[in-house]
Amino acid sequence: MKAVVIHSAKDLRVEEREVDALSTGQVEVAIEAGGICGSDLHYYNHGGFGTVRVREPMILGHEVAGTIKALGAGVSGLAVGDRVAVSPSRPCSHCEYCLKGQQNHCLNMRFYGSAMPMPHIQGAFRQRLVAEAWQCHKVADGVSINEAAMAEPFAVTLHGVNRAGALTDKRVLVTGCGPIGALTIIAARAHGAREIVATDVMDAVLQKALEIGADRVINVADKPEELSAYSVGKGYFDVQFEASGNERAVRSGLEVLRPRSTVVQLGLGGDVSIPQNLVVAKEIEMKGTFRFHEEFGLAVDFISKRRVDLKPLLTGTFPLEEAVKAFETAGDRSRSMKVQLAF
Ligand SMILES: [Zn+2]
Ligand SMILES: [Zn+2]
Repeated sequence: MKAVVIHSAKDLRVEEREVDALSTGQVEVAIEAGGICGSDLHYYNHGGFGTVRVREPMILGHEVAGTIKALGAGVSGLAVGDRVAVSPSRPCSHCEYCLKGQQNHCLNMRFYGSAMPMPHIQGAFRQRLVAEAWQCHKVADGVSINEAAMAEPFAVTLHGVNRAGALTDKRVLVTGCGPIGALTIIAARAHGAREIVATDVMDAVLQKALEIGADRVINVADKPEELSAYSVGKGYFDVQFEASGNERAVRSGLEVLRPRSTVVQLGLGGDVSIPQNLVVAKEIEMKGTFRFHEEFGLAVDFISKRRVDLKPLLTGTFPLEEAVKAFETAGDRSRSMKVQLAF
């Protein structure tokens, strides 16, 4: 089979790999669609992020869906021919965090396509993936495999929404409208948000944000005053989802949040300085959010039952052989939202 392998920054190759042997409780999936994520782009552009570096060849990818081709012994509830979204989250199920139901904090996590541990955890951009049956979630007939492959980033945003607490009737600010910001708009809307305002510095992504359900969008590069107008009377928003990782987005968010509101930080920008006076005086709660676990099944359910429409986010599909072109395109925010590979 072919797989998409990162060797170092800007050195991405399509290589031949052996298909893994099928064990008890596992299934073999013919991967058909794989979404390129921000973390895949970090490996491609910079060879890693933060202190994490690619130290050996690693198959990228963790947003995948496909069709089951073979069943290992003891698998029930799945059949050859089933179309499934595959959760890349593989917690150990017995460390202290797993036992607490916080699998996203598993001490022995084997999340696909991660260079954090050594040896690296090989990813899912490959033509045949042998996965545990419990990672595979069936998708309804009529749901495209491309939509199914968006279950993973959607699960990230459903977890972010869970971290925020109840959104019913809340005024929500989403800063940063890349794929995660855009999916957060959809997730927040599905959870009863009353009003959603989204910001970014690029008109193309803001247009997409409007299309998928934001009530208002603001280009904060051109018209920052439109956002700061919300600071009157100690602020306007009850919740901010910060999906840009940009220091200015954090600062301007704090100015327009109401007292006792919540910031959920999804974006990763490294070290930023935060005005403590605003956090203290407004009694703002700042929360991080990291990956997901049980939200993956919920994401597939939302997609399968057509309670959300993620199709508008898919801006390009490239054949496996054009992986480099796909990664270059995915990294260009002016023309891309979610780019997928076809296997
Ligand atoms: Zn992802
Ligand atoms: Zn664990």
